[in-house]
Amino acid sequence: MNFEWTPSQESLAAGALAFAKESLSSDVIARDRDGTFSFELWKRAADFGVLGWAIPTEYGGAGHDLVTTVRMMEALGEGCQDNGLTFALGAQMWGVQTALLHFGTKEQIAKYLPRSISGEAVAAYCITEESSGSDAFHLQTTAVRDGDEYVLNGEKVLITFGPIAEFAIVFAATDPSAGRWGLSAFLADAETPGYTAHPVEDKMGLRTVPFGRVTFDGCRIPAANLLGKVGAGASIFSFSQGWERSLVLAPQLGAMARQIKEAVAFAKKRRRAGVSIGKHQAVAHPIADMHLRLETGRLLLYKTAWLQDRGLPNLMEAALTKTYLAEAFRESSLAALAIRGGDGYKTATGVERDVRDSIGGLIYGGTTDIQRNIIAGLLGL
Ligand SMILES: Cc1cc2nc3c(=O)[nH]c(=O)nc-3n(C[C@H](O)[C@H](O)[C@H](O)COP(=O)(O)OP(=O)(O)OC[C@H]3O[C@@H](n4cnc5c(N)ncnc54)[C@H](O)[C@@H]3O)c2cc1C
Repeated sequence: MNFEWTPSQESLAAGALAFAKESLSSDVIARDRDGTFSFELWKRAADFGVLGWAIPTEYGGAGHDLVTTVRMMEALGEGCQDNGLTFALGAQMWGVQTALLHFGTKEQIAKYLPRSISGEAVAAYCITEESSGSDAFHLQTTAVRDGDEYVLNGEKVLITFGPIAEFAIVFAATDPSAGRWGLSAFLADAETPGYTAHPVEDKMGLRTVPFGRVTFDGCRIPAANLLGKVGAGASIFSFSQGWERSLVLAPQLGAMARQIKEAVAFAKKRRRAGVSIGKHQAVAHPIADMHLRLETGRLLLYKTAWLQDRGLPNLMEAALTKTYLAEAFRESSLAALAIRGGDGYKTATGVERDVRDSIGGLIYGGTTDIQRNIIAGLLGL
């Protein structure tokens, strides 16, 4: 077992950190308050290459392996204080791009992937509905074949980028009587008649990336926009969600590293009754625990990505990583806030924003309850 990073990996991570610090955090307090997405920052990240880091070179990406990519995503999360932006980049890379790259035809990849890599287009990944979330395969949206077209009817909710996406991957039932085996996936352009992107919905955290409803009302899309085979929807969902579950929380590790540096600096500097508060175990131990969570999270994430790179099964590792990183970021964010006293409660410090942002990770990509169901199931329960 080798725990060393190569000089090239070190340099890529250092470059990502420096870039994120300098170019990706501007106006985050105002954008979080107003709930606005910065297309400019998205484009900056894309121009830096983020959206193509893990895409093979023959498709216009950098072709980095996943271990290297998660290390760079971690660095990005450390330098960029906008957790919404780094979450959205990950969702785009691991949800949308994975499904497209692995199941798309040559034509579909040629049409959609370059605009995703270049950041010109943002895309949505639509499965959740009002009546199906954790039980994703019980969805009600239908796609009925009519000549050279499919007609989509239904509504998706809580969709990241739903309000502004240029195109969407949409899961729908092509044979409702066949349950999960009757689901298929489609590429739908937002400009298609019958595709309605609803206004941005307000939310607790990750406020710098929009989410909302997308409705399909007699939305006719070309049959050529079927992604993968008819009936392959559940497999495409499980495959791409496996990637997302494994990798999407990498930036949160970086945010946790940032929190530790800030907490240590604060605990050394802040003096009460003549001593630095860091001299009190009640302050020092939670910071030690933050470090413990960071290092444990790293081991889980790197192992999961390493298995993924080799095409080895990592269902268990992915569920462990998703659960652990989501809960670790919540716990470390709460600890970082407590250590700052009243200061942490102020919006200006950014600490309370991390607390709000951390909650989303417990829900999207399958709640931590669902991850525990997977873990327990794999343990034979
Ligand atoms: C920030 C954010 C971004 C999102 N982005 C997208 C997106 O881009 N695309 C998309 O399709 N969806 C998206 N979602 C939706 C997300 O995937 C769902 O919210 C999630 O899967 C849970 O579904 P639900 O909200 O319907 O909750 P429910 O399934 O109704 O669950 C409610 C509660 O019951 C628990 N529960 C349900 N079933 C079980 C069970 N079998 N065992 C144990 N506990 C259970 C859940 O853990 C939860 O605590 C996003 C959500 C958030 C918060």
